[in-house]
Amino acid sequence: MALKMTLGETLAAARQQIDRLDARLLLQHATGCSHADLLARPETPVGEPAGRQFSEWVARRAGGEPLAYLLGEAEFRGRVFRVSPEVLIPRPETEELIERALEKLCGLSAPRVIDLGTGSGIVAISLALECPSASLLAVDLSMAAVAVARHNADRLGAGVEFRVGDWFSPVAGESFDIIVSNPPYVADGDPHLKGDGLPFEPRMALTDGADGLACIRRIVAAAPAHLKPGGWLLFEHGYDQGEASRNLLTAAGFKAASTFNDLAGLDRVSGAHI
Ligand code: GLN
Repeated sequence: MALKMTLGETLAAARQQIDRLDARLLLQHATGCSHADLLARPETPVGEPAGRQFSEWVARRAGGEPLAYLLGEAEFRGRVFRVSPEVLIPRPETEELIERALEKLCGLSAPRVIDLGTGSGIVAISLALECPSASLLAVDLSMAAVAVARHNADRLGAGVEFRVGDWFSPVAGESFDIIVSNPPYVADGDPHLKGDGLPFEPRMALTDGADGLACIRRIVAAAPAHLKPGGWLLFEHGYDQGEASRNLLTAAGFKAASTFNDLAGLDRVSGAHI
């Protein structure tokens, strides 16, 4: 990009290469200008190094890198979370998991909740902030993910305890009122993994490297030993995994296995109680 271009010219040039909204958000992020600044003073020259940073981001975005990784943040339930390529980018369908967990949390006094595979921490942090009487423990196998989640909890003022480890291994002998998880559930070889920015996301957060149900099987099998009587397990899954999830829950001794739709009307969350 030529030096001394104005905000307006810079934005117009970028819009030839990437989505309009993405271009605007990246330009705001690179220059520190607000949307109002861009509208009111498009003739403002773009200085350096902002111009160079912006050109680099536009090229990376055009190459398929998700906007959230370039901005270093993403919004979920009206809160801004830090994200990095070490964590999955928040998806709106995960709101369904939060809503169902909040429903179960209502009426429990001082419930203990565990979030398995917390990633950026969106589930544990949203629950901690929206149900202040709950105590939240969040686990992830990735130390880098736990560092991101810890940063998010601190910045958003959420009291969440974090531990690193494989599913239930850091909580041997402990039990909870509610277990929540958004595990990797995309089957290995699913063409979805090749599309729409997914190649930039951590593979271990997306796929179990098997049929898509491997992590769900492990969680369902181990959950009863970590639930208090009447406690609930709720987890997110693929649009075509509702029936298989309910069957796994019932086979493991859970009661009232049910599946809930996301905002797009697709099977997205299943749960049951012990
Ligand atoms: N919902 C995500 C997707 O389809 C997958 C998230 C996950 O595996 N937990 O891209």
